[in-house]
Amino acid sequence: MTAHPISENAGHWWLVSGKWRRLHAIPGQAITRQQIRDSIDENRPLLARAACGMRRRWWLPGLFSRLGRRRCTPCCTALGIPPGYGTPANEADLNRKDQHQ
Ligand SMILES: [Zn+2]
Repeated sequence: MTAHPISENAGHWWLVSGKWRRLHAIPGQAITRQQIRDSIDENRPLLARAACGMRRRWWLPGLFSRLGRRRCTPCCTALGIPPGYGTPANEADLNRKDQHQ
């Protein structure tokens, strides 16, 4: 349950821009964990370029957004992962739970 750049997230942060519509993939090395913490603490978005080429100010999504927002298709194409809902890590969690039921 994370938007952090772990391997399950293809090494990318999954962040939202001001309009909160899509989760975009920002390369893990483009933003440090400290910058993410500062962004949250100071309520200030982070300027970076996503995998799809969009340069925006990004926010770490809340839990609801991580689970329910659709992933940006061009970002997914750039990373070679299928489009879908939520961060890839969250989606993998959900799939695992489905298989155990
Ligand atoms: Zn994108």
